[in-house]
Amino acid sequence: MSDSNIPRFSIPDKKGYFGSYGGVFVPETLMTALTELTVAYEEARADPSFQEELSHHLKEFAGRPTELYFAKRLTENVGGAKIYFKREDLLHTGAHKINNAIGQALLAKRMGKKRIIAETGAGQHGVATATVCAKFGMECVVYMGAVDMERQALNVYRMRLCGADVRSVDAGQKTLKEAINEAMRDWVTNVRDTHYILGSALGTHPYPMMVRDFHRVIGVETKKAILEREGRLPDEMVACVGGGSNAIGFFHEFLEEKDVKLTGVEAGGYGIKLGQHAARFEGGKLGVFQGCKTYVLQDEDGQIELTHSVSAGLDYAAIGPEHAFYRDRDRIRYAYAKDDEVLEAFQVCCRTEGIIPALESSHALVYTMKRAREMSKDQIIIMNMSGRGDKDVQQVAKILGESEIDV
Ligand SMILES: *Cc1c(COP(=O)(O)O)cnc(C)c1O
Repeated sequence: MSDSNIPRFSIPDKKGYFGSYGGVFVPETLMTALTELTVAYEEARADPSFQEELSHHLKEFAGRPTELYFAKRLTENVGGAKIYFKREDLLHTGAHKINNAIGQALLAKRMGKKRIIAETGAGQHGVATATVCAKFGMECVVYMGAVDMERQALNVYRMRLCGADVRSVDAGQKTLKEAINEAMRDWVTNVRDTHYILGSALGTHPYPMMVRDFHRVIGVETKKAILEREGRLPDEMVACVGGGSNAIGFFHEFLEEKDVKLTGVEAGGYGIKLGQHAARFEGGKLGVFQGCKTYVLQDEDGQIELTHSVSAGLDYAAIGPEHAFYRDRDRIRYAYAKDDEVLEAFQVCCRTEGIIPALESSHALVYTMKRAREMSKDQIIIMNMSGRGDKDVQQVAKILGESEIDV
Protein backbone atom coordinates (compact mmCIF):
# COMPACT_ATOMS: atom_id res chain seq x y z
CA MET A 1 0.00 0.00 0.00
CA SER A 2 1.82 3.09 -1.15
CA ASP A 3 1.42 6.67 0.11
CA SER A 4 -0.64 7.57 -2.92
CA ASN A 5 -3.62 5.61 -1.62
CA ILE A 6 -3.72 7.55 1.62
CA PRO A 7 -5.91 10.66 1.64
CA ARG A 8 -3.95 13.82 2.42
CA PHE A 9 -6.11 14.89 5.34
CA SER A 10 -5.24 11.67 7.14
CA ILE A 11 -1.48 12.25 7.03
CA PRO A 12 -0.42 13.89 10.29
CA ASP A 13 1.59 17.13 10.08
CA LYS A 14 5.35 17.32 10.74
CA LYS A 15 4.75 17.42 14.48
CA GLY A 16 2.54 14.36 14.34
CA TYR A 17 -0.85 16.05 14.68
CA PHE A 18 -4.16 15.08 13.12
CA GLY A 19 -5.75 18.54 13.42
CA SER A 20 -5.29 19.31 17.11
CA TYR A 21 -4.82 15.70 18.24
CA GLY A 22 -1.75 13.49 18.51
CA GLY A 23 1.76 14.93 18.68
CA VAL A 24 4.88 13.79 20.48
CA PHE A 25 4.92 13.84 24.30
CA VAL A 26 7.86 11.72 25.37
CA PRO A 27 11.11 12.02 27.35
CA GLU A 28 13.86 13.92 25.55
CA THR A 29 16.00 10.77 25.32
CA LEU A 30 13.52 9.19 22.89
CA MET A 31 13.33 12.07 20.43
CA THR A 32 16.18 10.87 18.21
CA ALA A 33 14.81 7.33 18.13
CA LEU A 34 11.34 8.55 17.20
CA THR A 35 12.67 10.66 14.38
CA GLU A 36 14.68 7.68 13.16
CA LEU A 37 11.59 5.48 13.37
CA THR A 38 9.46 7.96 11.45
CA VAL A 39 12.01 8.24 8.65
CA ALA A 40 12.56 4.48 8.49
CA TYR A 41 8.83 3.86 8.41
CA GLU A 42 8.18 6.38 5.65
CA GLU A 43 10.94 4.83 3.56
CA ALA A 44 9.58 1.34 4.16
CA ARG A 45 6.06 2.40 3.28
CA ALA A 46 7.22 3.70 -0.07
CA ASP A 47 9.42 0.67 -0.79
CA PRO A 48 7.68 -1.97 -2.94
CA SER A 49 9.98 -4.73 -1.65
CA PHE A 50 8.93 -4.00 1.95
CA GLN A 51 5.26 -4.01 0.96
CA GLU A 52 5.76 -7.26 -0.92
CA GLU A 53 7.41 -8.96 2.02
CA LEU A 54 4.64 -7.69 4.32
CA SER A 55 1.92 -8.99 2.01
CA HIS A 56 3.67 -12.34 1.82
CA HIS A 57 3.71 -12.81 5.60
CA LEU A 58 0.18 -11.47 6.01
CA LYS A 59 -0.94 -14.17 3.63
CA GLU A 60 1.24 -17.08 4.63
CA PHE A 61 1.58 -16.56 8.38
CA ALA A 62 -1.52 -14.57 9.36
CA GLY A 63 -4.04 -15.99 6.87
CA ARG A 64 -5.05 -12.95 4.78
CA PRO A 65 -7.26 -12.11 3.03
CA THR A 66 -9.99 -12.79 5.59
CA GLU A 67 -13.53 -13.63 4.46
CA LEU A 68 -16.42 -11.22 4.15
CA TYR A 69 -19.18 -13.34 5.65
CA PHE A 70 -22.94 -12.90 5.17
CA ALA A 71 -24.59 -13.47 8.56
CA LYS A 72 -27.78 -14.92 7.10
CA ARG A 73 -29.52 -16.23 10.19
CA LEU A 74 -28.59 -13.18 12.25
CA THR A 75 -29.97 -10.98 9.46
CA GLU A 76 -33.26 -12.93 9.47
CA ASN A 77 -33.35 -12.88 13.24
CA VAL A 78 -32.93 -9.10 13.39
CA GLY A 79 -35.24 -8.48 10.44
CA GLY A 80 -33.67 -5.45 8.74
CA ALA A 81 -30.51 -4.63 6.78
CA LYS A 82 -28.24 -7.39 5.48
CA ILE A 83 -25.49 -7.97 8.04
CA TYR A 84 -21.97 -8.92 6.93
CA PHE A 85 -18.95 -9.68 9.13
CA LYS A 86 -15.37 -8.97 8.13
CA ARG A 87 -13.72 -12.03 9.63
CA GLU A 88 -10.56 -10.77 11.35
CA ASP A 89 -11.33 -13.42 13.98
CA LEU A 90 -10.05 -16.04 11.54
CA LEU A 91 -6.49 -14.69 11.60
CA HIS A 92 -3.59 -16.47 13.28
CA THR A 93 -3.66 -15.76 17.06
CA GLY A 94 -7.34 -14.88 16.80
CA ALA A 95 -7.60 -11.16 16.09
CA HIS A 96 -6.57 -8.27 13.85
CA LYS A 97 -3.57 -7.49 16.08
CA ILE A 98 -1.25 -9.76 14.09
CA ASN A 99 -1.39 -7.33 11.10
CA ASN A 100 0.41 -4.66 13.09
CA ALA A 101 2.75 -7.07 14.89
CA ILE A 102 4.05 -8.43 11.58
CA GLY A 103 4.39 -4.95 10.07
CA GLN A 104 6.37 -3.52 12.97
CA ALA A 105 8.57 -6.61 13.35
CA LEU A 106 9.55 -6.35 9.68
CA LEU A 107 10.28 -2.67 10.17
CA ALA A 108 12.44 -3.42 13.23
CA LYS A 109 14.38 -6.00 11.22
CA ARG A 110 14.89 -3.44 8.47
CA MET A 111 16.19 -0.97 11.05
CA GLY A 112 18.64 -3.55 12.40
CA LYS A 113 16.95 -3.79 15.83
CA LYS A 114 17.19 -7.28 17.23
CA ARG A 115 15.30 -6.83 20.46
CA ILE A 116 11.53 -6.28 20.64
CA ILE A 117 9.53 -5.01 23.59
CA ALA A 118 5.76 -4.73 23.88
CA GLU A 119 3.03 -4.08 26.43
CA THR A 120 -0.11 -6.10 26.78
CA GLY A 121 -3.36 -5.86 28.73
CA ALA A 122 -5.48 -8.91 28.06
CA GLY A 123 -2.50 -10.58 26.42
CA GLN A 124 -3.73 -10.54 22.82
CA HIS A 125 -1.15 -8.07 21.59
CA GLY A 126 1.52 -9.83 23.64
CA VAL A 127 0.67 -13.16 22.05
CA ALA A 128 0.66 -11.69 18.53
CA THR A 129 4.05 -10.07 19.18
CA ALA A 130 5.56 -13.19 20.77
CA THR A 131 4.55 -15.40 17.84
CA VAL A 132 5.94 -12.95 15.30
CA CYS A 133 9.23 -12.65 17.22
CA ALA A 134 9.53 -16.44 17.31
CA LYS A 135 8.91 -16.57 13.58
CA PHE A 136 11.53 -13.93 12.78
CA GLY A 137 14.00 -15.08 15.45
CA MET A 138 13.96 -11.90 17.53
CA GLU A 139 14.34 -11.45 21.27
CA CYS A 140 11.00 -10.54 22.85
CA VAL A 141 10.16 -8.92 26.20
CA VAL A 142 6.51 -8.31 27.09
CA TYR A 143 5.43 -6.09 30.01
CA MET A 144 2.16 -7.01 31.65
CA GLY A 145 0.42 -5.83 34.83
CA ALA A 146 0.51 -8.37 37.65
CA VAL A 147 -3.30 -8.35 37.90
CA ASP A 148 -3.65 -8.98 34.15
CA MET A 149 -1.08 -11.80 34.34
CA GLU A 150 -3.21 -13.55 36.88
CA ARG A 151 -6.45 -12.99 34.92
CA GLN A 152 -4.87 -14.07 31.65
CA ALA A 153 -2.63 -16.90 32.76
CA LEU A 154 -3.21 -18.86 29.57
CA ASN A 155 -1.98 -16.01 27.36
CA VAL A 156 1.08 -15.60 29.60
CA TYR A 157 1.87 -19.26 28.99
CA ARG A 158 1.31 -18.91 25.23
CA MET A 159 3.84 -16.07 25.11
CA ARG A 160 6.34 -18.08 27.17
CA LEU A 161 5.89 -21.08 24.89
CA CYS A 162 6.92 -18.82 22.01
CA GLY A 163 10.05 -17.84 23.90
CA ALA A 164 8.98 -14.41 25.17
CA ASP A 165 10.19 -13.04 28.49
CA VAL A 166 6.94 -11.89 30.17
CA ARG A 167 7.69 -9.37 32.93
CA SER A 168 5.22 -8.66 35.69
CA VAL A 169 4.51 -4.97 36.47
CA ASP A 170 3.58 -4.30 40.10
CA ALA A 171 2.97 -0.53 40.08
CA GLY A 172 -0.41 1.20 40.51
CA GLN A 173 -3.46 -0.77 39.38
CA LYS A 174 -1.10 -3.39 37.90
CA THR A 175 -2.83 -3.33 34.52
CA LEU A 176 -2.28 -2.00 30.99
CA LYS A 177 -1.51 1.64 31.83
CA GLU A 178 1.36 0.63 34.12
CA ALA A 179 2.61 -1.94 31.59
CA ILE A 180 2.90 0.83 28.98
CA ASN A 181 4.85 3.02 31.42
CA GLU A 182 7.26 0.17 32.08
CA ALA A 183 7.72 -0.58 28.37
CA MET A 184 8.53 3.12 27.80
CA ARG A 185 11.09 2.98 30.61
CA ASP A 186 12.75 -0.04 29.01
CA TRP A 187 12.76 1.69 25.63
CA VAL A 188 14.45 4.82 27.01
CA THR A 189 17.22 2.62 28.44
CA ASN A 190 17.70 0.25 25.49
CA VAL A 191 16.67 2.33 22.52
CA ARG A 192 19.80 1.58 20.48
CA ASP A 193 19.06 -2.07 19.82
CA THR A 194 15.35 -2.18 20.75
CA HIS A 195 12.10 -1.52 18.92
CA TYR A 196 8.87 -1.00 20.87
CA ILE A 197 5.89 -2.64 19.14
CA LEU A 198 2.96 -0.63 20.44
CA GLY A 199 -0.33 -2.51 20.13
CA SER A 200 -2.89 0.09 19.04
CA ALA A 201 -3.29 3.31 17.04
CA LEU A 202 -2.22 5.24 20.09
CA GLY A 203 0.70 6.92 21.79
CA THR A 204 3.29 9.23 20.31
CA HIS A 205 3.74 9.96 16.60
CA PRO A 206 4.45 7.98 14.39
CA TYR A 207 2.59 5.11 16.10
CA PRO A 208 -1.02 6.18 15.46
CA MET A 209 -0.28 6.63 11.75
CA MET A 210 1.94 3.56 11.42
CA VAL A 211 -0.38 1.17 13.26
CA ARG A 212 -3.31 2.46 11.21
CA ASP A 213 -1.42 1.88 7.98
CA PHE A 214 -0.68 -1.72 8.96
CA HIS A 215 -4.41 -2.30 9.53
CA ARG A 216 -5.65 -0.48 6.41
CA VAL A 217 -5.64 -3.81 4.62
CA ILE A 218 -8.85 -4.67 6.53
CA GLY A 219 -10.83 -1.91 4.81
CA VAL A 220 -9.15 -2.39 1.44
CA GLU A 221 -10.16 -6.06 1.37
CA THR A 222 -13.65 -5.22 2.62
CA LYS A 223 -14.25 -2.76 -0.20
CA LYS A 224 -13.13 -5.19 -2.86
CA ALA A 225 -15.21 -8.04 -1.42
CA ILE A 226 -18.45 -6.10 -0.99
CA LEU A 227 -18.21 -4.72 -4.54
CA GLU A 228 -17.81 -8.29 -5.80
CA ARG A 229 -20.66 -9.63 -3.68
CA GLU A 230 -23.21 -6.83 -3.86
CA GLY A 231 -22.00 -4.60 -6.65
CA ARG A 232 -22.11 -1.62 -4.34
CA LEU A 233 -20.72 -0.12 -1.14
CA PRO A 234 -22.39 -0.72 2.24
CA ASP A 235 -24.70 1.82 3.87
CA GLU A 236 -22.97 1.59 7.20
CA MET A 237 -19.84 0.09 8.80
CA VAL A 238 -19.36 -0.61 12.50
CA ALA A 239 -16.31 -1.47 14.63
CA CYS A 240 -15.46 -1.50 18.32
CA VAL A 241 -12.95 1.07 19.59
CA GLY A 242 -10.39 0.40 22.28
CA GLY A 243 -7.27 2.30 21.31
CA GLY A 244 -8.86 2.36 17.89
CA SER A 245 -6.70 0.22 15.61
CA ASN A 246 -9.19 -2.28 14.19
CA ALA A 247 -11.75 0.50 13.65
CA ILE A 248 -9.41 2.92 11.90
CA GLY A 249 -8.00 0.13 9.72
CA PHE A 250 -11.51 -0.97 8.76
CA PHE A 251 -12.82 2.56 8.11
CA HIS A 252 -9.85 4.23 6.48
CA GLU A 253 -10.45 3.13 2.90
CA PHE A 254 -14.03 4.45 3.19
CA LEU A 255 -13.36 7.91 4.66
CA GLU A 256 -13.90 9.57 1.31
CA GLU A 257 -17.01 7.53 0.49
CA LYS A 258 -19.47 10.07 1.83
CA ASP A 259 -22.50 7.78 1.54
CA VAL A 260 -21.03 5.15 3.84
CA LYS A 261 -21.79 5.85 7.49
CA LEU A 262 -18.98 4.90 9.87
CA THR A 263 -19.65 4.16 13.52
CA GLY A 264 -17.21 3.28 16.31
CA VAL A 265 -18.49 1.63 19.48
CA GLU A 266 -16.82 2.26 22.83
CA ALA A 267 -17.17 0.32 26.08
CA GLY A 268 -20.09 1.59 28.16
CA GLY A 269 -19.27 -0.81 31.03
CA TYR A 270 -21.90 -0.59 33.80
CA GLY A 271 -23.11 2.75 32.40
CA ILE A 272 -21.73 6.27 31.92
CA LYS A 273 -20.82 7.03 35.53
CA LEU A 274 -17.45 7.97 36.96
CA GLY A 275 -15.10 4.98 36.94
CA GLN A 276 -17.72 2.59 35.54
CA HIS A 277 -16.94 2.61 31.82
CA ALA A 278 -14.31 3.30 29.13
CA ALA A 279 -16.28 5.54 26.72
CA ARG A 280 -13.81 8.37 26.26
CA PHE A 281 -16.11 10.42 24.04
CA GLU A 282 -18.90 10.20 26.63
CA GLY A 283 -17.06 11.07 29.81
CA GLY A 284 -13.62 12.14 28.64
CA LYS A 285 -11.87 15.46 28.16
CA LEU A 286 -8.98 16.68 26.05
CA GLY A 287 -5.69 15.82 27.70
CA VAL A 288 -2.20 14.45 27.26
CA PHE A 289 -1.68 10.83 28.20
CA GLN A 290 1.02 8.26 27.37
CA GLY A 291 2.53 10.12 24.46
CA CYS A 292 -0.24 12.07 22.76
CA LYS A 293 -3.00 14.64 23.03
CA THR A 294 -6.46 13.13 22.80
CA TYR A 295 -9.67 12.42 24.70
CA VAL A 296 -8.87 10.97 28.10
CA LEU A 297 -10.97 9.86 31.06
CA GLN A 298 -9.57 12.08 33.80
CA ASP A 299 -10.73 14.12 36.77
CA GLU A 300 -10.52 17.90 37.32
CA ASP A 301 -6.86 17.63 38.34
CA GLY A 302 -5.92 15.55 35.30
CA GLN A 303 -5.71 12.35 37.34
CA ILE A 304 -6.58 9.37 35.17
CA GLU A 305 -9.94 7.88 36.14
CA LEU A 306 -10.51 4.22 36.80
CA THR A 307 -12.14 2.46 33.87
CA HIS A 308 -14.30 -0.61 33.60
CA SER A 309 -15.39 -2.90 30.80
CA VAL A 310 -16.32 -6.57 30.63
CA SER A 311 -13.85 -6.62 27.74
CA ALA A 312 -10.20 -6.12 28.65
CA GLY A 313 -9.27 -5.01 25.11
CA LEU A 314 -11.50 -1.92 25.33
CA ASP A 315 -10.65 -1.04 28.92
CA TYR A 316 -8.28 1.92 28.47
CA ALA A 317 -8.55 5.59 29.49
CA ALA A 318 -7.52 7.17 26.16
CA ILE A 319 -8.62 6.88 22.54
CA GLY A 320 -6.41 7.07 19.44
CA PRO A 321 -5.95 10.71 18.30
CA GLU A 322 -7.11 10.14 14.72
CA HIS A 323 -10.53 9.12 16.05
CA ALA A 324 -10.89 12.44 17.88
CA PHE A 325 -10.01 14.20 14.62
CA TYR A 326 -12.78 12.47 12.58
CA ARG A 327 -15.28 12.89 15.38
CA ASP A 328 -14.79 16.67 15.21
CA ARG A 329 -15.30 16.53 11.44
CA ASP A 330 -18.41 14.43 11.98
CA ARG A 331 -17.00 11.78 9.65
CA ILE A 332 -17.07 8.95 12.19
CA ARG A 333 -19.85 8.75 14.77
CA TYR A 334 -19.40 7.08 18.13
CA ALA A 335 -21.75 5.07 20.27
CA TYR A 336 -21.25 2.82 23.26
CA ALA A 337 -22.52 -0.56 24.41
CA LYS A 338 -22.96 -1.68 28.00
CA ASP A 339 -21.70 -4.95 29.48
CA ASP A 340 -25.15 -6.58 29.80
CA GLU A 341 -26.06 -5.79 26.16
CA VAL A 342 -22.67 -7.10 25.09
CA LEU A 343 -23.18 -10.45 26.82
CA GLU A 344 -26.60 -10.76 25.19
CA ALA A 345 -25.25 -10.01 21.69
CA PHE A 346 -22.35 -12.43 22.27
CA GLN A 347 -24.84 -15.26 22.90
CA VAL A 348 -27.11 -14.33 19.99
CA CYS A 349 -24.14 -14.52 17.63
CA CYS A 350 -23.06 -17.93 18.94
CA ARG A 351 -26.57 -19.35 18.56
CA THR A 352 -27.52 -17.87 15.19
CA GLU A 353 -24.20 -18.03 13.36
CA GLY A 354 -22.03 -20.57 15.15
CA ILE A 355 -19.40 -17.87 15.53
CA ILE A 356 -18.08 -17.09 19.02
CA PRO A 357 -17.13 -13.40 18.88
CA ALA A 358 -14.58 -11.66 21.12
CA LEU A 359 -16.26 -9.57 23.83
CA GLU A 360 -14.62 -6.54 22.19
CA SER A 361 -16.26 -7.34 18.84
CA SER A 362 -19.55 -8.03 20.66
CA HIS A 363 -19.70 -4.30 21.46
CA ALA A 364 -19.85 -3.59 17.73
CA LEU A 365 -22.46 -6.33 17.42
CA VAL A 366 -24.82 -4.62 19.90
CA TYR A 367 -24.89 -1.50 17.76
CA THR A 368 -24.95 -3.42 14.46
CA MET A 369 -28.09 -5.31 15.50
CA LYS A 370 -29.76 -2.14 16.77
CA ARG A 371 -29.05 -0.28 13.55
CA ALA A 372 -29.87 -3.16 11.20
CA ARG A 373 -33.31 -3.38 12.80
CA GLU A 374 -33.95 0.28 11.91
CA MET A 375 -32.75 -0.15 8.33
CA SER A 376 -34.58 -1.65 5.34
CA LYS A 377 -33.96 -5.10 3.90
CA ASP A 378 -32.21 -3.76 0.81
CA GLN A 379 -29.60 -1.95 2.90
CA ILE A 380 -26.21 -3.35 3.93
CA ILE A 381 -24.28 -3.05 7.17
CA ILE A 382 -20.78 -4.50 7.66
CA MET A 383 -19.30 -5.14 11.07
CA ASN A 384 -15.64 -5.80 11.75
CA MET A 385 -15.39 -9.04 13.70
CA SER A 386 -12.09 -7.94 15.24
CA GLY A 387 -11.42 -11.21 17.05
CA ARG A 388 -12.66 -14.58 18.20
CA GLY A 389 -14.12 -15.22 21.62
CA ASP A 390 -12.32 -18.38 22.64
CA LYS A 391 -10.27 -16.29 25.07
CA ASP A 392 -13.49 -15.02 26.71
CA VAL A 393 -15.42 -18.25 27.16
CA GLN A 394 -14.31 -18.87 30.76
CA GLN A 395 -15.18 -15.33 31.78
CA VAL A 396 -18.60 -15.49 30.13
CA ALA A 397 -19.36 -18.81 31.80
CA LYS A 398 -18.47 -17.31 35.17
CA ILE A 399 -20.66 -14.22 34.62
CA LEU A 400 -23.62 -16.25 33.38
CA GLY A 401 -23.27 -18.46 36.42
CA GLU A 402 -22.69 -21.70 34.59
CA SER A 403 -21.49 -23.36 37.76
CA GLU A 404 -21.38 -26.82 36.22
CA ILE A 405 -18.50 -25.66 34.02
CA ASP A 406 -15.24 -26.03 35.86
CA VAL A 407 -13.71 -22.53 35.59
C1 LIG B 1 -7.26 -5.52 21.33
C2 LIG B 1 -8.56 -5.80 20.71
C3 LIG B 1 -9.47 -4.76 20.39
C4 LIG B 1 -9.24 -3.33 20.77
O1 LIG B 1 -8.15 -2.72 20.20
P1 LIG B 1 -8.26 -1.67 19.01
O2 LIG B 1 -6.90 -1.11 18.92
O3 LIG B 1 -9.29 -0.64 19.39
O4 LIG B 1 -8.68 -2.42 17.82
C5 LIG B 1 -10.64 -5.09 19.74
N1 LIG B 1 -10.94 -6.38 19.43
C6 LIG B 1 -10.10 -7.40 19.74
C7 LIG B 1 -10.50 -8.78 19.37
C8 LIG B 1 -8.90 -7.15 20.38
O5 LIG B 1 -8.07 -8.18 20.68
